[in-house]
Order: sequence, then C-alpha cells, then structure tokens
Amino acid sequence: MTKQIMVGIIGVGHLGQYHAKHFSQLPAANLVGIFDSDRSRAREIANKYNTNVFESLEQLLDSVAAVSIVTPTITHAGIAEQCLQAGKHVFIEKPITKTVAEADRLIQLSQQTNSLLQVGHIERLNPALLPLKNFNLQPKFIEVQRLAPFTTRGTDVPVVLDLMIHDIDIILSLVDSPVKNIRASGVSIMTKSVDIANARIRFQNGTVANFTASRIAKDQVRKIKVFQQDMYATIDLSLGMTEVYRILDDKIKNPAAILTAPLNQDGVHRQIVYEKPAIKKTDALQMELTNFIAAINGEEKPIVDGVAGRDALAVATKIHQMIIEDLL
Ligand code: NAD
Repeated sequence: MTKQIMVGIIGVGHLGQYHAKHFSQLPAANLVGIFDSDRSRAREIANKYNTNVFESLEQLLDSVAAVSIVTPTITHAGIAEQCLQAGKHVFIEKPITKTVAEADRLIQLSQQTNSLLQVGHIERLNPALLPLKNFNLQPKFIEVQRLAPFTTRGTDVPVVLDLMIHDIDIILSLVDSPVKNIRASGVSIMTKSVDIANARIRFQNGTVANFTASRIAKDQVRKIKVFQQDMYATIDLSLGMTEVYRILDDKIKNPAAILTAPLNQDGVHRQIVYEKPAIKKTDALQMELTNFIAAINGEEKPIVDGVAGRDALAVATKIHQMIIEDLL
C-alpha cells in the first residue's frame, strides 16, 4: 500500500513555491513544513499552502522523511549532505551541485544511508520529448538551442551549469554512447561569468551534438533538432510541439506524404512523410515530484537519479572549463 511520505521543503523562492504547491496537493505526500533562511518568505509560502515554518534545518529534519532542496546551487552540497546524513530522501534541484566532487560525495552518502537522491532535471519530462519514444532514435547529428532573457536568478553559476545542463541531460539520455570529445567556446556579456556558450560533443558511436545556450536573448527559445538516417525530428520544448519528417520507400503512394518522387528503378516511391504527434499538456514539476514520492515508496524508479545528475554536471563542467581556457 502507498505510504504517505512526510515532506519538507528547503528554499521557497521562485521555484520552491511551486514545490510547496504540488506537495500540498499530492495525496501520497504530507507537506510538514518549510525552512528558508528568509523567514518572511517562508511564512508567506507556509500560509499560502497551510503548512508550518521551521526555524532551523535541524528542526525540519526531525519531522520529515524526505526533503526538496530548492536553494541556490552553491548551497546544494552542504544542505544535501546534512539531509542525507540524517537519513532523509533528497530531491535536489538542478544542477545537483556546483562541483562534480560534491556530487560524488552526495551519491556516496545516499548509498551509505540507503536514501534516495533524485535531481530536478525537469526537461526530461517535457511532454514534447515523449513522442520520440515511438521512433527508433539513432541520431547522427543533434542541434540544440536554449536562449533565455536575462534574469539575476541562476547567475550564481555560469550559463552552462544553469541552462545548457538541461540539454546535456536530455541528450545524454537520448544517445546511448559515451562522450568521445568536446569542443567549446563562450563569452561573458552581462555577468562576470560566461553568459553565452557553444559546445560540440562527439560521442563514441559517431553522434555529434551541437549546443548553444544564452541567457542574453529577447525571447525564450528551447529547440532540439535530431537528424538521423531517413529521419528528421524537430522538438520545440517551449511550445510543446514535435514534428517528424521521415523518408518512406513504398510501392504505393502514401496519402500522408508531403513529397513523393516518381517510381524509381527499385519500383518504389521515395516519399517524405510528415507527422505531428498530439502532445498532451502535462505539469512536469507535478510529475517529477509524484515520481519522487513513488520512488521512495518503491513503486517507480527515479526519472533522474543522482548519478544522471552527476553525469550531466561532469559534462557541463568540462564544457565550462574549456570555455574558460579558451578565453585565457
Ligand atoms: P531563488 O533565489 O528564487 O530562491 C532560493 C530560496 O532559497 C530563497 O527563498 C532563499 O531565501 C532560500 N535560501 C538561500 N540559501 C538558503 C539556505 N542556506 N537555507 C535555506 N534557504 C536558503 O532561486 P530559484 O530560482 O528558486 O532557484 C533555486 C534552485 O532551483 C537553483 O538550484 C536553481 O538552479 C534551480 N532551478 C531549477 C529550475 C529547473 O528548471 N529545474 C528552474 C529554476 C531554478
């Protein structure tokens, strides 16, 4: 039987308020309370979702079985370590930590304490990605673009760790091959850190993925284009739209074809078939937190576990280091 899990939230700023909203509504979760170093913010969100404010992290940990950590990235490692040491299951917003060594330490601690460590790479649940499961994906080339208007939130880390890491995590989950090499460059425009970055990853199986991330843009753009033998898919993560173009060789003209060549010497028509799969609008954060509770109850596997969060961070860190070296 599903057990109701006592949950606490640490950090209820921009994103943490939505964690509070969902945990207050999930039947399998009991939102016991909030800890935020900004007490008035903690009270505001606690009042809104009818829960308690805790004066310290220790007091919160005494009352819960699981926590969501939604504080600035630089604080993740210290807070998560304390939670795992106390034997609590941890959902931690992305990026898992600022450094790979910190992520490794958390993974080790979660194993030692038999606690779940899950990472909030929410884009994995973007409904526009779901139709890709119906195609035999073997990408040769992937073009990724993530542009966002400037905000001060997230600028405690470079753009690769703030924005590009979303796409790195997605692509690592789509390409079933280790990274062979990385090339990267970037520039700083608004902050002391890198604000615009470009990276090209070559995987051992030959797949090439080209990423651009910028936090200096007028409009938000989040697009992935996948090219493979006889297929091209374009995914708009912002609009929630996926379009697939496939080459089909058939003796009969396909009515769904947008382009049909005359019969060739093999006796078939080369045709381009266009598909726009229906995309169900879903709330990715709600799904992610539901998955966390189900994973604690042993009913599901975590969609993005600590190791996946660490792997995305390792690639992102390498990219960032290359950019810094390139700028010197
Ligand atoms: P924010 O600055 O709006 O909120 C952070 C909150 O944490 C604030 O209320 C602050 O008072 C509190 N806080 C800071 N240090 C604390 C500490 N030591 N103990 C307790 N509370 C503390 O930040 P945000 O935009 O909500 O981002 C939070 C985290 O979520 C970051 O790691 C960010 O990368 C991540 N994030 C993820 C996504 C996503 O798409 N998954 C989107 C936005 C942010």
